Amino acid sequence: MDYRANFQAAVAQLKNERRYRVFADLERDAARFPLAQWRDETGAIRPVTLWCSNDYLGMGRHPEVIEAMRETAARVGAGAGGTRNISGTSRAICELEAELADLHGKEAALVFTSGWISNLAGISTIAQLLPDCLILSDALNHNSMIEGVRRADRERVIWRHNDVAHLEELLAAQPRERAKLIVFESLYSMDGDIAPIAAICDLAEKYNAMTYIDEVHAVGMYGPRGAGVAERDGVMDRIDVIEGTLAKGFGCMGGYIAGDAALIDAVRSYAPSFIFSTALPPPVCAAAKTSIRVLKARPDLREAHQRQAKTAKHALAAAGLPVMENPSHIVPVFVGDAEKCKQASDMLLDRHGIYIQPINYPTVPRGTERLRITPTPLHSDELIVGLVEALVDVWTTLGLPFVAPTPEAKADEPARCALPEIKRAAE
Ligand code: PLP
Repeated sequence: MDYRANFQAAVAQLKNERRYRVFADLERDAARFPLAQWRDETGAIRPVTLWCSNDYLGMGRHPEVIEAMRETAARVGAGAGGTRNISGTSRAICELEAELADLHGKEAALVFTSGWISNLAGISTIAQLLPDCLILSDALNHNSMIEGVRRADRERVIWRHNDVAHLEELLAAQPRERAKLIVFESLYSMDGDIAPIAAICDLAEKYNAMTYIDEVHAVGMYGPRGAGVAERDGVMDRIDVIEGTLAKGFGCMGGYIAGDAALIDAVRSYAPSFIFSTALPPPVCAAAKTSIRVLKARPDLREAHQRQAKTAKHALAAAGLPVMENPSHIVPVFVGDAEKCKQASDMLLDRHGIYIQPINYPTVPRGTERLRITPTPLHSDELIVGLVEALVDVWTTLGLPFVAPTPEAKADEPARCALPEIKRAAE
């Protein structure tokens, strides 16, 4: 067996299919986020603006968050020292779990090393602990949820994305006494669409099913205290398990589930990916707890986030760029061709100092390739003007189609005027 040749062939296949991923060499500037430094192929360092970070609110560079991490590391050290079973459970992780339980109005929470692991451990363990459990999974669920469903090794059915009529059909076909777990996301990160959470809860109650929601792209950003879309919609208490990340809106690292104390204790006691893995380091826990606390009291940051996302959407649409409409902070711009998408991303970086990663298959279906833009509250109106100008240049150079401004962009006078107004102000 030529081992090396095998690995080379696997990589060559990805390159042939134009799916080989090359990471940009980026270093964020904490004091000037969303500015960063990009090291190009020649080793030269150039300033760039980040436009696709999932540190959606810029909390990764918040002074209080950094200070919590620094102070805790100096006091107790960098790492956790082992699993919680071996090394004990740090004060910082216990406080973080209490903070999360409070955030979601649940009895308890359990922290994992990532959101990905939370879903793998949470979904699989809950389903395994329920005899003959049927898992009902939304068709567009994230890879980590799919892995959790697979690992559960229970019967599963896929319901059409956000289609409650289809979900009801599937639920109605089951005996009432059978254990059922509905798994879905609140906010789907590639299209930016939002689940009909209340309607799903209605069905769960009607057909005696449990609900498991992934709020990874919503925690910190939606709801009066930043607990997510379920909080915003007033249905948080109707959801059995809320899963989230500490790595996006909260700007740190790690993941969690929150729910009933008995359920959390069972997952803690049975999930191998929790039991046999080193705990999240105390400095990271302290930073995440601080970030959650800060955000609980900062609806203004959430408002600024929504405002800048909306301003960007309208300015791009007014310039004829094909923004894919949705009701969230995600700003996808349609390209529809893998090669062109990569070229657009490269050109933005090289010519305009703008970093937007291309989103290609398998992250999205072939033919729906896009640039996924995530404005933060720290992206100023001036930066938005620069983004629109750069994208117009790239679209023109690559011969990508422009579209007529959306009816929404046409109707919303102040937003439609945002771009020329900003330009006038700059002159
Ligand atoms: N769930 C969803 C919907 C995600 O998009 C992601 C990651 O992007 C995760 C879970 C995993 O979270 P983490 O990045 O904390 O591992």
